[in-house]
Amino acid sequence: MAVKISECIGICKVDRNGSITELQREFFGQGWIFKDWKAFHEHPNEPCYVPELSDTVYMRDDFMSLCNNQEEIAEKLFYEVDWQSPSALMYEWETDGEINTCGQCGKIILTYDVHKCPHCGCSISDNDSSSAEKQHSSSCNK
Ligand SMILES: [Zn+2]
Repeated sequence: MAVKISECIGICKVDRNGSITELQREFFGQGWIFKDWKAFHEHPNEPCYVPELSDTVYMRDDFMSLCNNQEEIAEKLFYEVDWQSPSALMYEWETDGEINTCGQCGKIILTYDVHKCPHCGCSISDNDSSSAEKQHSSSCNK
């Protein structure tokens, strides 16, 4: 699926408490959302995303904290989210085995084509892609 990029879809303004003062969604991808690429990259304190089904305002930091403050994951999450809440997409990725959590260092890893954690070098077992919570069998050689 091609990632569509533009400047801004819809309008979202918030007051200093983070409450929405103006919200207009536009159709994008699979639903009606607000999404502002420029805000995500240049204005971390401004709204960059509102999903279709709830009036929840997301800012860059919200994406960052969902992604363990790993910028490359947060960016992928922001680019690919197109109607759902970012946490729902994270859950989808976990279920599909697209991301994994390293049992050793706790970092999130994009699992395509990765057999070792790029952060600590711990090996990632392919059969264990959906069980970040469970004990798993990957071994680390120190
Ligand atoms: Zn690791």
